[in-house]
Amino acid sequence: VNSHDSSSQGETVGIVGAGLVGCLAALAFAKKGYSVTLFELRSDPRTVKDRSQKNLRSINLAISNRGIRAMKYVDEEITDRVLEYIVPMKGRMIHDLTGTKQESQLYGLYGECINSIDRGFLNECLLNELDMQENVRVLFDHKLIRLNDITTEVKPSMVFLDSKQHNEFKTFKFDYIVGADGAHSQFRYQMSRFSRLNYSQNYVDMQYLELYIPPNEDPEAVSRFHINPNHLHIWPRHNYMLIALANKDGSFTSTFFSPWSVIESLKTSEEFLTFFQENFPDAYDLIGEEALATAYEKNPRGSLMQVSAYPYHSPNGRAILIGDAAHSMVPFYGQGMNCGFEDVRVLMELIEETEDIQAAFIKYSDVRKKDLDAICKLALENFYEMSTKVTSIGYLIKKNLDYTLAKYCNGKYFQWLPLYTMISFRDDIPYHEAVEIEARQQKTLTGINYAVAGAAIVGVVTKLLQLYSKLNKK
Ligand code: FAD
Repeated sequence: VNSHDSSSQGETVGIVGAGLVGCLAALAFAKKGYSVTLFELRSDPRTVKDRSQKNLRSINLAISNRGIRAMKYVDEEITDRVLEYIVPMKGRMIHDLTGTKQESQLYGLYGECINSIDRGFLNECLLNELDMQENVRVLFDHKLIRLNDITTEVKPSMVFLDSKQHNEFKTFKFDYIVGADGAHSQFRYQMSRFSRLNYSQNYVDMQYLELYIPPNEDPEAVSRFHINPNHLHIWPRHNYMLIALANKDGSFTSTFFSPWSVIESLKTSEEFLTFFQENFPDAYDLIGEEALATAYEKNPRGSLMQVSAYPYHSPNGRAILIGDAAHSMVPFYGQGMNCGFEDVRVLMELIEETEDIQAAFIKYSDVRKKDLDAICKLALENFYEMSTKVTSIGYLIKKNLDYTLAKYCNGKYFQWLPLYTMISFRDDIPYHEAVEIEARQQKTLTGINYAVAGAAIVGVVTKLLQLYSKLNKK
C-alpha cells in the first residue's frame, strides 16, 4: 500500500467521481482556491472511442434554470460556451396513437425553455476546463475502495485501486472529501459503515431502452430535423411511453420506458417490432425497422431507482455526499443533474456564509434534506403526468386554468405559479417550497371549483323554482 499525502498547497479536497456533478464540484472548489484531486473509476472519456466504456447513461439530457444557475455561479464563461450547444425545448409535443396528430403543450407562459444537451459533450467541457486549472489534478482509472477516519479529528483518507498500475492500492489523505460517485456510490456505502448514515435504495418497476432517430439526410429538405426540435416529444401510452430529445446535428435520442414485464413479454425482435408499430407508428418510421430490431437485440436495458441518504455529512464534518450518490431519482422531471448541480451551488454558498468548511458540510444536511426529498417524490409522480395525464381532458382544463391564473395573478404581492414553472424555470424557489406553494394553490383551485359548481347549482335551482311557481300560478 502506497501512501500519497496530497496536501502540497493550501487546504486539500479529494472528490470521487468525475461525472457531471463531481466535475462541477471540482471546478467550484478549485475556484475557491482549494487544491483539488478528482478521482474517476473509468478511463478518460476523451480518449475512449467505445461508447459502452463511457459513463453515458443517456446521450442527451435536459438542463434547466437550476443547473444553468449553478454552472454560472461556478464559471460564467464555460456556461456561455456550453449554452451555445443546447437545443431549447419550449414544450411537450404529444404524439397520438394513429401517428398522424401532434399536439404542442407549451411549458411556460413567456416562452421559457428547458434545453437538450449532449451529456458527453457537457462532461468533456467540464473536464477540459479542469485541465486548465493549476490547482486540479484528475486521476482516471482510480476506483474508490475504502474511506478511513471520517469520524475522528484526523484527516480522512481514501484507498483506491489503480487499474493502470497493475491494480495497485493507493492511499490519499485530504482535509475534506466529497462523494460524487453516482447512484451505486461506494463512498456512501463506506460512510454508512463507519457513521450512522441511513440510506435506502428502491428499484422502480421500469426499464429504459435508448433508441436513435437519425437526421434527415435529404439535401433538399428544409430542416435536418424530421420532427420539431424545440419540443420534448412524448408518445404517452399510460403504462409505458416513448420520448425524444433533439441533438444539435438533426438527430434525436429517443427513450422507451416501460415496466419490465412489458419488455420481457416481447420475446423476439419481431414481436418488439409489431408492438412498436402498433403503439408508436410515426416513431417506427423515423427510427427504421432495422435500427429498432438492432436496438432490441443489442442496446442495454437500464433500470431506474430512487436512492435517499441522510445525513449527507460525516460526523467530523470532513466528508460529504452530493449528486446521485446522495439522491438518485427517476428521470421524469429532468432534474437529476440539475439538482446535483444545485447541490454544488448550495454547498459553496454555505462555505462562503460560514467561512468554515466543516460547519458548512454539517449545515448542508439540514439545509438540503427537505428539498432533496421533495424533488425525488416529484420525479416519481411525474411519470404518471407524462405517460397518462397529458392526454386527459381534466388535466388540460386544469393546466389551462393554472396558466390563466398565472398570467393574470403575477403582481408583487400575489403570484400564481404553475408547479412546472417553479421547478424548471425558477431557480430561486427551493424544491420543497415549490411543493408547498403548489399545495396551497391546489386548495384554492378546489375552492374555486366548488364555488363555481355551487353557483351553478344555485342558478339551476333558482330557475327551477321560478318555473315551478310560474306553473303553479297558471
Ligand atoms: P454519475 O453521472 O453517475 O457520475 C458518477 C461518476 O462516479 C461516474 O463517472 C462513475 O464512473 C464514477 N464512480 C462510480 N463509482 C466509483 C468508484 N468506486 N471510484 C471512483 N469513481 C467512481 N438529469 C437531468 O437533470 N435532466 C435530464 O434530462 C436527465 N435525464 C436522464 C435520463 C436518463 C435515462 C437517466 C438514467 C438519468 C437522467 N438524468 C437527468 C439524471 C442524471 O443523469 C444524473 O442525475 C446525473 O448524471 C448525476 O450525476 P453524478 O455526477 O451525481 O453521477
